[in-house]
Amino acid sequence: MDFSISPALEDLRTRIAAFVETHILPLESDPTAYDGHGNIAGAKLEPLREKARAEGLWCLQLPRPDGDFIGLAGMAVCYEEMNRSIFGPVVFNSAAPDDGNMMVLHRLGTPDQREKWLRPIAEGKVRSAFAMTEPSPGGGSDPSMIQTRATKQGDRYVLHGRKWFITGAEAASHFIVVARTSDDPRHGLSALMFHKDQPGWRIVRRIPIMGPEEHGGHCEIEFDGLEIPAEDMLLEEGRGMKVTQVRLGPARLTHCMRWLGLSKRCVEIATEYAERREGFGIRLADRESIQMMLGDLCMGIEIGRLLVMKAAWELDRGGFARKEVSMAKVHVANLLHKAADTAIQINGARGYSGDTVLEWIYRYARQARLVDGADEVHKMVLNRHLAEERRDFWRWTVS
Ligand SMILES: Cc1cc2nc3c(=O)[nH]c(=O)nc-3n(C[C@H](O)[C@H](O)[C@H](O)COP(=O)(O)OP(=O)(O)OC[C@H]3O[C@@H](n4cnc5c(N)ncnc54)[C@H](O)[C@@H]3O)c2cc1C
Repeated sequence: MDFSISPALEDLRTRIAAFVETHILPLESDPTAYDGHGNIAGAKLEPLREKARAEGLWCLQLPRPDGDFIGLAGMAVCYEEMNRSIFGPVVFNSAAPDDGNMMVLHRLGTPDQREKWLRPIAEGKVRSAFAMTEPSPGGGSDPSMIQTRATKQGDRYVLHGRKWFITGAEAASHFIVVARTSDDPRHGLSALMFHKDQPGWRIVRRIPIMGPEEHGGHCEIEFDGLEIPAEDMLLEEGRGMKVTQVRLGPARLTHCMRWLGLSKRCVEIATEYAERREGFGIRLADRESIQMMLGDLCMGIEIGRLLVMKAAWELDRGGFARKEVSMAKVHVANLLHKAADTAIQINGARGYSGDTVLEWIYRYARQARLVDGADEVHKMVLNRHLAEERRDFWRWTVS
């Protein structure tokens, strides 16, 4: 087992770290750097994106034009560094949902589809959204309940139905929608792409949420006769679940990579305060109770990194890493919540204020236990594996 990283990856990591430190972190304390929904304002974002692209720190989740790719394990190293700042990932074009959409389009799209749907996202010219979840009684945790219909008429599909919590929908131009093309229990869903300017769909509302929002918010959308040419289907009809699985594995993991960066930032802010704040004659940092809290978080972060790296390694060698991704997702989502909560506690009233990004992270963190599969659903999946594999659940992979 080798946990070392290559000098080239270390070079990338340090350049991202320096970029975040110099160009992004200072914006967090500038009120004019925020848009109306708690994210980085467009006027500040665009020049930074240009700079990141010029420095070769752009879109690391896709292979370079020469085919060179850092893999998911390399991304784990870089993404963690990007999300030291709350604004980091979007600057490097590695924020959700775009990064997951780019990865699935790269992996499953035909050359023409990549050119049409992927390239503009990868170049940062447009944003994208992935539309799967529906309000009750439609599909949420259980995708087999999806009700949005795509009915074939000649060489096109006509969509009717409703989706909600579609991240980025108000700012997105390219959409991937998962809809029902038949009642076949295994092959009833299909994935289709459409452009925001196509008629036959609308944003019903931008759903108010407790946390800061990704650009474009989380929207409820309605399809009322949207026509999508058959050539804009990803894979063949009936393979929507396959598309979803291919997209969600890496996308869940990149969430974890980013959340580890945010968790480390929480520890960083808590440590800085504990080292300078005194009470009852000693520094907070010298109290064993505080040391236990921080030590516990360090351990949780390292466990999260190991789970993420194991899953990344499995995906990089062509596996599905279903168990590994589920374990990483549950652990890191809960870790993020705990890291923000603990750091706020250590910072006292300051932690509850807007003077640090802790309250931003705390409000953001709650969604982590819901998005891309609630904790309980991932644990149910793990238990399914246990029921099938028994003691082999923990088998070693022999090289
Ligand atoms: C901020 C945010 C962004 C999102 N972005 C997107 C997006 O871009 N695109 C998209 O398609 N969706 C998106 N979603 C939706 C998200 O993927 C769903 O919320 C999630 O899959 C759960 O579905 P649901 O909300 O319908 O919960 P439900 O299926 O209604 O479940 C409700 C609760 O029941 C419990 N539960 C469910 N199943 C089980 C089980 N088997 N065992 C035990 N307990 C269970 C869980 O506690 C769960 O939280 C987003 C959600 C949020 C909060």
